Amino acid sequence: MHETRESGEEIPSRADESLPLPAEASPLTAGTLSLPAEALQIRRFTERLGIPGLVDVHTHFMPERVLRKVWAYFDSVGALGGDLDWPITYRHEEDERLAVLREFGVLAFTAMLYPHKPGMAEWLNGWAVEFARRTPDCLHTSTLFPEPGVERYVREAVERGARVFKAHVQVGAYDPADALLAPVWGLLAEAGVPVVIHCGSGPAPGRHTGPEPIARVLARHPQLRLVVAHLGMPEYEDFLGLAERYGEVRLDTTMTFTDFSERLAPFPARALPRLAALGDRVLLGSDFPNIPYPYLHQLQALERLGLGDDWLRAVCHDNGKRLFAR
Ligand SMILES: [Zn+2]
Repeated sequence: MHETRESGEEIPSRADESLPLPAEASPLTAGTLSLPAEALQIRRFTERLGIPGLVDVHTHFMPERVLRKVWAYFDSVGALGGDLDWPITYRHEEDERLAVLREFGVLAFTAMLYPHKPGMAEWLNGWAVEFARRTPDCLHTSTLFPEPGVERYVREAVERGARVFKAHVQVGAYDPADALLAPVWGLLAEAGVPVVIHCGSGPAPGRHTGPEPIARVLARHPQLRLVVAHLGMPEYEDFLGLAERYGEVRLDTTMTFTDFSERLAPFPARALPRLAALGDRVLLGSDFPNIPYPYLHQLQALERLGLGDDWLRAVCHDNGKRLFAR
């Protein structure tokens, strides 16, 4: 990406479309920072903003053997050769991963877990109940899949205190507008429980990714609190449009604006004012621990947008705190 930027003057169309990021790639992408040094820099970031810490709506905790499979997938992406290398920065045991988040001053986070086939969501939700019980700073997370019984187990999860759901349209390979999910979206809209949904076509498109299926869901459930993961990458502008149209739609920043993502799916600079205007509905997300760069880089990537400290405070703390207040 930074080659593109250096040669940007010779390729005006590209320069117009890309964000004005610094010409030098962040040294952080090399992954040379020690954990204590990183924690210190993150604490400085929150102290400078005058916020007590971070609220991160997009972190992954799941049963160990499922997480190992996710890591094996990212390892294989790298092993496929080509351009994409996806080293997992925080490949630690669960207790150590929790300790790292707390060292970083993450006050509240989620356990984004998701099924890739039927018959799995309810089991994951059972694990998530236990995880939330032993992890008080984790917002009790649940998931779903279009299958018989989904309305029942989603209702049960809400009754058991689920604060947020995760839906993964690309991995699950389902249509979010599937008739089996209609009562579920209705139930979640009524309960006001947010759903973080991976529905954009990045990093890989799926049969049902993209804005169109989500637009159909929202037409039927305009009050549904969808949190569009990754700002809808790469269909950023379409999903900004849905957030502008529906007041309960929010966007999470997960992986966006990092050197890694800007190389794969650059955010169009012309859309930045729209993102600024939606400042009260943009939420910090990181994808910890499955990120190919340090956590700090996500924060710096947001800071260098130049949208100001009020915007950063809202995104990194206030919006999430308000959404999950009770
Ligand atoms: Zn994720």
